[in-house]
Amino acid sequence: MKGLNIESKLPDAGTSIFTVMSKMAQEHNAINLSQGFPDFPCSEDLVRLVNENMVKGLNQYAPMAGVPELGETISNKIEKLYEVIYDPETEITVTAGATEALYSAISAIIHHGDEVIVFEPAYDCYTPTIELNGGVPVRIRMNSPDFEIDWVMVENLINTKTKMIIINTPHNPTGTILSEKDMLELQRITDDTNIVVLSDEVYEHIIFDLNVHQSVISYPNLAARSFAVFSFGKLFHTTGWKLGYCVAPKELMKAFRKVHQFIVFTCNTPIQYALAEFLKKEEEYLSIAQLYQDKRDFFVDAIEDSGFKIIPSFGTYFQLLDYSDISEENDFDYAATLIKTIGVASIPVSSLYSDPPDNKLLRFCFAKSNETLEKAAKKLCSL
Ligand code: PMP
Ligand code: GLN
Repeated sequence: MKGLNIESKLPDAGTSIFTVMSKMAQEHNAINLSQGFPDFPCSEDLVRLVNENMVKGLNQYAPMAGVPELGETISNKIEKLYEVIYDPETEITVTAGATEALYSAISAIIHHGDEVIVFEPAYDCYTPTIELNGGVPVRIRMNSPDFEIDWVMVENLINTKTKMIIINTPHNPTGTILSEKDMLELQRITDDTNIVVLSDEVYEHIIFDLNVHQSVISYPNLAARSFAVFSFGKLFHTTGWKLGYCVAPKELMKAFRKVHQFIVFTCNTPIQYALAEFLKKEEEYLSIAQLYQDKRDFFVDAIEDSGFKIIPSFGTYFQLLDYSDISEENDFDYAATLIKTIGVASIPVSSLYSDPPDNKLLRFCFAKSNETLEKAAKKLCSL
């Protein structure tokens, strides 16, 4: 038989860096601070609720946009936090994690040749999703250590082909957050344009030092042109359940659902019912800012005497460390060296740029037990 001639639609994509580093960590039995996920359990109550719903027989397809009870609870949460009402019937969709929400939003809007502005370093799924849809990522680099957005550059790059701008606050991998001034700039720049904003807010509740999360939802002119994306994995320490949601004004959500229904159609039913109940306990998600701030502080204190320079983290569960005083190696090689020599895994930040600067930065996930963080810190201090 003649060999198949397959032309990948993503010829340059390798395996996700999170998978690569987690696998390397496992192979070398290293402490895995690379891929972002908690190593402590989620609430037993939540597990019990899922179980109860399964036993009750809630095991068939949920409605395409999500179970109404969960849509209602999400709507109430948003109203309480931002004093804005999203109608669960038409403006909220439960998704297979934030990843599917991002995919559906981009696919709903981006046509061949459309430009999408992306700020780098960027979470790994944005640009491949744009490219799969025939779009053109227009990258704007953010520079260490502040990783601020140059809004003048954004304004200069906008043209008739610009269809979308993707923002992410709190930001993975840098731990920076957008300010009110940033949001007002974005609002001003997009005013009177046809640009859609895709706002990745999965770390909405993981924000430190009394900073306030700046959601597109709080800015009426931005909210009117935005998809906002959230993840239950981050809220309740259940990244493996892959459930999230997207909110947007009716017209945008209509286009979104046309795609969502043909990607997954609908998401896990018993977990949605469980979340509908559990999400009513606002202390469960409002307490995670303090939980992770304590972990950040614990980790940063424990590596204070190491050779790493600490780049401040204002949110997410990631800490960037600059190793330029310790090694000349590039970040991928150095991350591999750390796994093999001291047994600590991290993410090389260059992998989240298309054209990486010569930074010597690694990302460490501190969503771990203090015992794990202490062990890792000791090893990092030994360098
Ligand atoms: N966006 C960002 C910035 C993330 O860090 C992640 C996952 N950590 C996601 C999206 C994907 O979230 P989910 O696992 O819910 O698909
Ligand atoms: N979002 C997680 C991180 O940044 C990983 C998710 C994934 O492995 N795709 O580490």
